Amino acid sequence: DLVDARLDGRAVAESVRAATRQAVESFTQDADPPALAVVLVGDHPASASYVRGKKKAAAEVGIESTVHRRADGISQHELLELIGTLNADATVDGILVQLPLPDHIDQHAVIEAIDPAKDVDGFHPQNLGRLLIGMPQFTPATPSGIMVLLRRALDDLSGKRAVVVGRSNIVGKPLAALLMQRDANATVTVCHSRTRDLAAHTRAADIVVAAVGQPKLITADMVREGVTVIDVGINRVDDDARERGYRLVGDVDYDAIAPKAHAITPVPGGVGPMTIAMLLRNTLQAAQQRRA
Ligand code: NDP
Repeated sequence: DLVDARLDGRAVAESVRAATRQAVESFTQDADPPALAVVLVGDHPASASYVRGKKKAAAEVGIESTVHRRADGISQHELLELIGTLNADATVDGILVQLPLPDHIDQHAVIEAIDPAKDVDGFHPQNLGRLLIGMPQFTPATPSGIMVLLRRALDDLSGKRAVVVGRSNIVGKPLAALLMQRDANATVTVCHSRTRDLAAHTRAADIVVAAVGQPKLITADMVREGVTVIDVGINRVDDDARERGYRLVGDVDYDAIAPKAHAITPVPGGVGPMTIAMLLRNTLQAAQQRRA
């Protein structure tokens, strides 16, 4: 999967999806297909496209998905009721609430309302807590996809200096937990907007993961020769040459860093496809565990 330094997330994701497809096929010999319920609130443009991508990918591996679209004006009470209905519905294996939610809704309350056994995003405090103590149930899709990519790029993560830039609950924090787990053994530094001299941290790193949301935050002078770089960022930048008027870029100056990197993920085609592949795997796992 490594051509020059390019770590091809599409190719790795395809192999993860192929394995899931096979496992779903054998699961459905004597059971209904795994069923995923996706809740999409409002009309955040990127969210709608992520949900379309997830639905299509689910269908391709034999997972059924239903999108529950609700208007931006839905009340928190109504949304919690919908979650309650999906929790109680025995035909639903996995529940995913597409983030972000509108400002008037308490995101934490909604996530906490999801039955942890159906929480295929792994964002419920119980699942994040289990991850932290090394007893994972559902691992958030983006961080677990990043771990798969890192294991493809590097023989051994043990003792490697990993710098995670970004400390969100959905990417940075769970990724730091995975990297420091006993089965990975990296030495982890987490950086954020209050970090002093970010470049000093990234320059000392064997692995740099950027999960910020700022184009070209990580430049070539900030990394060492032989570094492995995972670019999580998805940023829209204006591009008149494109019909839709923008293109997607990551947080990393790919062209400048690739020549000195051991491995580096592109955007698009890096972490994004892995995220979807890992979500499908979690959904199959939910069905297997619930119906065991
Ligand atoms: P958040 O906005 O929740 O977090 C961003 C983090 O970056 C924060 O911790 C913030 O610090 C930190 N930060 C901001 N500016 C700087 C800076 N100048 N130097 C260092 N750190 C900084 O983002 P998410 O984790 O949700 O997402 C990050 C990016 O990844 C986004 O572009 C998002 O679109 C993308 N993404 C991609 C996914 C995929 O599948 N490929 C999945 C999820 C997200 P502080 O905490 O101090 O504010």
